[in-house]
Amino acid sequence: MATAGMSSCGRRRVLVFPLPFQGHINPMLQLADVLHARGLAVTLLHTRFNALDPALHPEFAFVSVPDGVPAEVAATGNPIEIILAMNAAMEASTAVGEVLASVLADEGQPRAACLFIDAHLRAVQEAAAGLGLPTLVLRTTSAACLGCFLAYRMLYQKGYLPPRESEFDMPVNELPPLRVRDLYYSRNNNQEKVNKVLTRATETVKNCSGLVINTLETLETTELQRIRDELDLPVVLAAGPLHKLSSKSTRSSLLDEDYSCIEWLDMQPLRSVLYVSFGSLASMDSNDLVEVAWGLANSCQPFLWVLRPGLVQGFEGTDLPDGFEVAVNGRGKVVQWAPQQEVLAHNAVGGFWTHSGWNSTLESISEGVPMICRPHFADQMMNARYVEKAWGVGFELEGELERGKIESAIRRLINEKEGADMRDRAKDLKKKVADCLESCGSSQIAVDKLVSYILSL
Ligand code: UDP
Repeated sequence: MATAGMSSCGRRRVLVFPLPFQGHINPMLQLADVLHARGLAVTLLHTRFNALDPALHPEFAFVSVPDGVPAEVAATGNPIEIILAMNAAMEASTAVGEVLASVLADEGQPRAACLFIDAHLRAVQEAAAGLGLPTLVLRTTSAACLGCFLAYRMLYQKGYLPPRESEFDMPVNELPPLRVRDLYYSRNNNQEKVNKVLTRATETVKNCSGLVINTLETLETTELQRIRDELDLPVVLAAGPLHKLSSKSTRSSLLDEDYSCIEWLDMQPLRSVLYVSFGSLASMDSNDLVEVAWGLANSCQPFLWVLRPGLVQGFEGTDLPDGFEVAVNGRGKVVQWAPQQEVLAHNAVGGFWTHSGWNSTLESISEGVPMICRPHFADQMMNARYVEKAWGVGFELEGELERGKIESAIRRLINEKEGADMRDRAKDLKKKVADCLESCGSSQIAVDKLVSYILSL
């Protein structure tokens, strides 16, 4: 069943099973890389849906696991539907348990100490428990987000949830700086289904043998403390940002990255470019696309814009408005997918207009790049709130997307004093990230503890 060989340099092996979405795959593969670099052998379990390419990771063994997601559900691309379908199919069949049993029985590999899973793979955790295999969870979102999951019952009891539009701006006193509108809920999904996904993720965390969060101690000190106080787990480790701890060569992009944008950035003035990307899942309608295009054009600022296939609902292609290319006159570059970490690290980039996914937020903070936040769903609203209110490294662009508002938001970030202050604070955060990566830094210590813990299992 293994599809690639591995360099078995470790005394122990970890099994690793990411949730098959870009924002979950990236940190899990980065963690796998970090553990491999510390001498552990790694076996990666992956699904047919958004399957990984074993050729990109010759250092890992790969095992494919039937996900049972019906093609029509996979085609929706809707994470809530796919998570529910995948777990239901895995629970209804013995396939996951059989795959795990055969991986554990493979005598050609070092003994498996544990299985690292995403919190949304509760069915996999149950199958592992049946075989006596301990599971560790990697949370690929912020500590604040997990705190919100854990507080969900309280949020319902106190009437914050379900959210009422008239109370959107009400502060959630128990979880500052969040407001009702920042809580994890979804306009596009049935709230019952969202609740089920969150309840199951919380169960996975409560039933695991150790928790790793892709954040850093100094960024979310209070939020981490709250989690440690509330959960009775042997280890709760803040070991991020994982993309900075892993080697540069960890490639886990599901789409081809267009490197021509780096050459284009090389020709742009220092800190002048606005990088615009809404991640791997967020979508917009064609009216929004037109407003974004003209907002960018009218800002007179250089920009690099990721127009992912499927970004505009119902269209594979993304036609830009007539006259747009002439108006931007070489000042803008549009790509389908960018090498985002390299882009953010480039000194021509002066700001990031983001959908506020947690990876994008951490990647931006790590390079000291201030943000315009346009959250769409899930944890993105709370990430945006932290960026604006807790860390002061950006602001949210609220309400309808409209070209005039976009133009002034870009000027505010790139040209005005307020934006310069945000950039200064972002630089301070970049320094905190650099500190946690030092050999005695908190994230390196967290990885040391994690490796000793794995070896003790
Ligand atoms: N990303 C990328 N190229 C792009 C846009 C995004 O490599 O053009 C990566 C980005 O670096 C991040 C991930 O895709 O690691 C997106 O994760 P995030 O949590 O920000 O958002 P999601 O896609 O899960 O909504």
